[in-house]
Amino acid sequence: LRVVGDDASSTAIPNDLQAFWMPFTANRSFKARPRMVARAKDMYYFTPEGKPILDATAGLWCSNAGHNRDPIVQAIQKQAAELDFSPSFQFGHPKAFELASRIAALAPNDLDHVFFCNSGSEAADTALKMAMAYWNARGKGAKTRLIGRERGYHGVGFGGISVGGIVPNRRFFGALLAGTDHLPHTYDREKQAFSKGEPEWGAHLADELERIVALHDAATIAAVMVEPMAGSTGVLPAPKGYLKRLREICDKHDILLIFDEVITGFGRLGAPFASERYGVTPDLLTFAKGVTNAAAPMGGVIARKHIHDAFMTGPDHIVELFHGYTYSAHPLACAAGLATLDLYRDEGLFEKSKAMEPIWADAVFDGLKDKPGVLDIRQVGLTAAIDIASWKDAPGKRAFVAMDKAFHDEGMMIRTSGDCLVVTPPLIMSESDAGQIVEKLARVIDATA
Ligand code: PLP
Repeated sequence: LRVVGDDASSTAIPNDLQAFWMPFTANRSFKARPRMVARAKDMYYFTPEGKPILDATAGLWCSNAGHNRDPIVQAIQKQAAELDFSPSFQFGHPKAFELASRIAALAPNDLDHVFFCNSGSEAADTALKMAMAYWNARGKGAKTRLIGRERGYHGVGFGGISVGGIVPNRRFFGALLAGTDHLPHTYDREKQAFSKGEPEWGAHLADELERIVALHDAATIAAVMVEPMAGSTGVLPAPKGYLKRLREICDKHDILLIFDEVITGFGRLGAPFASERYGVTPDLLTFAKGVTNAAAPMGGVIARKHIHDAFMTGPDHIVELFHGYTYSAHPLACAAGLATLDLYRDEGLFEKSKAMEPIWADAVFDGLKDKPGVLDIRQVGLTAAIDIASWKDAPGKRAFVAMDKAFHDEGMMIRTSGDCLVVTPPLIMSESDAGQIVEKLARVIDATA
């Protein structure tokens, strides 16, 4: 056993770090030098010893309203005492219907029907299954192929990794990933470096869908799934006009368009959904994270009316879609979701996010572009990614050390993707918070040069 701290009987710091096999973590490094948090409030985490850690990542792009917000905490507490669980298969509870209506009202156009699950990965798999089942219901059962994009991330279910384009996520599972193809990613440093917001170059990359259709035939393709901004592979904003072009090509060939808005939903890009920012309505839209401010696990898919209605045929005692999860529309998550949407509305957080974007962009670009080894900065909404030159023969290590230093030396949580530092602060961030984030980043970039 590894003993952390002097007092092995302390409950604040467990004395055995081995039992928890941590997800997406360099386990051995973490356990040798843990980055542990025990409490949170607003823009800050606190270590078990009480040291404040500025949260420059909104947890995992999810605590958009900041941490431990009173109305959400109280809603969860009240719900736990009132209705702990009820099944959503053949039974319902009122908050599930209320939350679905509220989400549908926030979503653009006729994205009117909400299917609940518990995570972004489940949302991705749900949307892909819906797309395939939709064509089946329409009598076009040969339309099963799913098209994703290189550098796309749609969680870790088999559906999500099949359309996803992250090599380490796919490497060991090849045998189960048939029936997909991928658009090229939209990043080209030579053409786009240091673009603020959406790059000018790259809309034509959507035309690659025409090549894929010519290869496979539209009669075999169910859907195209993309993130409006690829988050996990280092903030790749959609080039100007790209998403509109994708929508046009999908319409032309009768292919469904799915937006994965697990990150971009609920204010990250200054609107309830990125779909609104870009004026493009997908057929299916996935969400998770910010829907409950991450205070309870929840994800979901919003379907347009024609998708939903295609299933509502046949005898009315028969289940229309053979899909769902025990915890779909869990009462605690629904209560958290309703309180979260109230908070976003009452504090005008989507509008605040939009107003903050230019201030944030200037702070990040002005403060970091001349730092040693900064190769590119990308930004859209309240996100930023800083590519830094790798150390010789050790790809990814400089950013890893910078992340560790940020935590231990600067008291700040950031994320990395290869040798890229990623920051996505809560939408409640003030100008002074933005300044602090940039100053701390500057110091860890200097310290790892
Ligand atoms: N889709 C996107 C775009 C994401 O960024 C993520 C997580 O970061 C997911 C899906 C997966 O979500 P989860 O980790 O909740 O399964």
